[in-house]
Amino acid sequence: MEELLRRSEKLTTVGQLAAGVAHEIRNPLTTLRGFLQLQQETNKLTLAHVSLMLSELDRINLIVGEFLILAKPQATKFITKDVRDVLQDVIAFMNSEALLHDIEFRIAFTEENCRISCEENQLKQVFINLLKNAIEAMPSGGLIHINVSHRREHISITIADEGEGIPDEMIAKIGDPFFTGKETGTGLGIMVSQRIINSHRGTMDIRSQVKVGTTVHVMLPILKEGSESVILEG
Ligand code: ADP
Ligand code: MG
Repeated sequence: MEELLRRSEKLTTVGQLAAGVAHEIRNPLTTLRGFLQLQQETNKLTLAHVSLMLSELDRINLIVGEFLILAKPQATKFITKDVRDVLQDVIAFMNSEALLHDIEFRIAFTEENCRISCEENQLKQVFINLLKNAIEAMPSGGLIHINVSHRREHISITIADEGEGIPDEMIAKIGDPFFTGKETGTGLGIMVSQRIINSHRGTMDIRSQVKVGTTVHVMLPILKEGSESVILEG
């Protein structure tokens, strides 16, 4: 059965998000504290302990890093871009990672121009998150189809993998902060992507079929000819 998730239907509140972050960061911190205390009391910290401590620190860093992209340390800068160029940059960036896993990108882009107004780094992060998920869903390789086309007032972007798919009982939870189906996942990629797409007045849907694959569909409003707007937001 094919399951469709309209991600725009739910967005976690700041309060729920903060509770999640606090919880997820406290766990590795507790481990770190325990080891340091062991060292203080017994001076018996081993190399194995130290490497565990490092991986706990890495996890905290990963979680904080995923949130930084939303934190907007500087003013957000929306510029005019052709979404195909943004995608090409991301594809070039992800290509070696894909090849490493026997994965090939298949691209089908419209010939028409695809101008949008976007915060380029944030939009790139969305495509990176989605391509990473696609790659991680295909441990034995395959194809990832990336399509760009026009839909009236919108640019339609689809990223379709041939991966393991998402089981029915999981799909409603995808995009909840910290919900992950992976051993070392953070469960933040889809949530962060959804927020970024929302801030671009776009939508994001996920369709998936177990053992067939997953398709993520992103729609972004087209920037009309002549409106060369650069919007700056505090
Ligand atoms: P993470 O990748 O850290 O687990 P995400 O928010 O990116 O967090 O994804 C949440 C979960 O959604 C994943 O752990 C995975 O179970 C599922 N998922 C997302 N994208 C795909 C995909 N393309 N194929 C299969 N499962 C996916
Ligand atoms: Mg991910």
